[in-house]
Amino acid sequence: MERDYPLERVRNFGIIAHIDAGKTTTSERVLFYTGAQHSIGEVHEGDTTTDWMEQERERGITITAAAITCFWAPTYLAEADRKDAKKKFRFNVIDTPGHIDFTVEVKRSLRVLDGAVVVFDGVAGVEPQSETNWRYAEEAQVPRICFINKLDRTGASFERSYKSILDRLSKKAVRFQIPIGEEDKHEGVIDLLKMKAYYFEGNMGNQVLEKEIPEAYVSDATKYRGELVERIVENDEGLMTAYLEGKAISLEALKETMRKAVIENKIFPVMTGSALKNKGVQLVLDAVVDFLPSPLDIPPVKGLNPNTNEEVLRHASDTEPFSALAFKLQADPFVGQLTFFRVYSGTIESGSYIYNSTTGNKERLGRIVRLQANQREEVKKVFAGEIAAAVGLKEAKTSHTFSDEANPIILDQITFPEPVISLRIEPKTKADQEKMGMALKRLSDEDPTFKIKSDQETGETVIMGMGELHLEIIVDRMKREFSVEANVGKPQVAYKETITGTAEVENKYIKQTGGKGQYGHVKINIKPLPKYDPEEKIPKNASREPGFEFVNSIKGGVIPIEFIPAVEKGIREAMDRGILAGYKMTDISAELTYGSYHDVDSSEIAYKIAASQAFQEAAKKAKPVILEPIMKVEVVVPEKFMGDITGNLSSKRAQIEAMEDRFELKVVRAQVPLSEMFGYVTALRSMTEGRGSSTMEFDHYAIVPKNVELEIIEKRTGGKA
Ligand code: GDP
Repeated sequence: MERDYPLERVRNFGIIAHIDAGKTTTSERVLFYTGAQHSIGEVHEGDTTTDWMEQERERGITITAAAITCFWAPTYLAEADRKDAKKKFRFNVIDTPGHIDFTVEVKRSLRVLDGAVVVFDGVAGVEPQSETNWRYAEEAQVPRICFINKLDRTGASFERSYKSILDRLSKKAVRFQIPIGEEDKHEGVIDLLKMKAYYFEGNMGNQVLEKEIPEAYVSDATKYRGELVERIVENDEGLMTAYLEGKAISLEALKETMRKAVIENKIFPVMTGSALKNKGVQLVLDAVVDFLPSPLDIPPVKGLNPNTNEEVLRHASDTEPFSALAFKLQADPFVGQLTFFRVYSGTIESGSYIYNSTTGNKERLGRIVRLQANQREEVKKVFAGEIAAAVGLKEAKTSHTFSDEANPIILDQITFPEPVISLRIEPKTKADQEKMGMALKRLSDEDPTFKIKSDQETGETVIMGMGELHLEIIVDRMKREFSVEANVGKPQVAYKETITGTAEVENKYIKQTGGKGQYGHVKINIKPLPKYDPEEKIPKNASREPGFEFVNSIKGGVIPIEFIPAVEKGIREAMDRGILAGYKMTDISAELTYGSYHDVDSSEIAYKIAASQAFQEAAKKAKPVILEPIMKVEVVVPEKFMGDITGNLSSKRAQIEAMEDRFELKVVRAQVPLSEMFGYVTALRSMTEGRGSSTMEFDHYAIVPKNVELEIIEKRTGGKA
């Protein structure tokens, strides 16, 4: 079967935005203009954190599907060409979530998209989450186009927003458009390369009209075009020379060089408009075609061959061995579980078996679909560089790699932060009990930062996630999608424990009863595990993972090899139970140095108990401490509240890192322990007459001060310790 679309006409991109900047509105316009959707649902009413799920129900398929496929012919083509299917580009628009608790989802989607449109609110400019997302995009080196949206709003300013991008995100941003009018006078935009003005008329601004630049804007446009051209020609020696010699440079040459520069992350073109007022979105789509990379333009993907542990590369070619990444699981109301995947190399057909190189198992790949705005297109074969969804895979989870079994590869793993918050959850009725278990499992398969465990003492179910809102949404989804009613407890901080010193302990576990006894004897040595470095060569006798290392230094078989795994298991179990306040221990290296055995009485269980006891004793001696999650917090308030806000933060053990101006407001950035931040949104509102806002995200774990440690221990043990 032939490839259905030339790869150079495919664009895998995402729309990234701070919550409320207009991602939903922009996405809906994209679907409308690409002809996929014929009526536009507005979103200005309703609860923005959950309305998308309701919307999903109403529409069958949502604009928040993990990936939507649509087709676009650039507006600058002649009318007949625009209708020609061969001239169209295939867009796979990959969803990125808006809220800070889900930035890890942004990270994950950045793995599979080749370029991004970053949407800004034209009133607020760069907001904290734009910075976080920008940083992730920077790490992943994803080429970006900026779109300053909402230019029609009162208080909107293109120049101010543009400046906030330069100041806070990147000096590589450059005006590619300027607006014609702002606020209620916003009429259209000027393309600085073509030096033309664009207006949007007809149904939903469907018609793009090209006109001459209005007299009043000619001088600004000329000046800014000069800047843009200079920035472009810098990237090409030939053009630079021609430019310096004052020769005319063709539009084609400028576009081509700009495309290269954008793909290499040397230029971020800045565009503008108003999604709500139907201005500018089509030109952003033209820019996606002109400047964002096709799968052929990006570097080959890297991974490990699990058999040899060697690094291997895969190019976007149909003839290379198959490799793909599962990047999102999503429940579809009509076809069931969808596993979205991106093929990096080779091809895969429906009806074949798919090899999961992460688990080492194979599954039958029944059907493959591609989601369009109002239909699911059945796909027979998926080619390199493409995105599609498998129906009904049971085993695959987010971030698993699929590959050719004969040429296995595990693509670079995405590292997800550990959950920092937990709460108890209890089904309302007996009937909910079983459903709840299933629902939670499904949700945690979808989301690697959402975990479930059961409390060993009480048997209750505990769910863990990245923030209060994250868990609220999980509980809400359980209710809507799985009809499970549950009572939830108060959110709790997910503390951890570790050691700061070293200790060595020898321990024997011996039982002599009538018949066969028990005999386990170990000597173990524990020390803090240095920061996990995936590049480091790990010695043959050690196994290491983030948070734990086990080293077997037994010589001369003083403990038979078959009992060694039991020793490791005993230590792990003791770590799970904690030593100070019952929190899981982390960042420990444990070395088994010596021991002995008994011909008859030695058993796995005896070594497990011996090791577990030895570890507990050692951990007590090795200066144990409690760790707490520290959050990066940003508070934005009018100046007159600054004193109160910083005073209040200081009383929360905050470290204030910066105070700066943002337009008419003050911004405070601080690092604050999560335990001090519960209910902060409400408290801030009352401290600032409702005018303050804040965002918060996990930064790192740090040792809690002694007095706090005592409080935590007291709480957990009821003062028994
Ligand atoms: P998201 O949270 O980023 O998905 O943002 P939405 O698309 O839901 O938009 C948030 C709010 O801003 C909604 O009330 C939209 O109607 C409004 N909005 C979006 N784009 C524009 C725009 O271009 N102009 C104006 N005035 N409002 C907009």
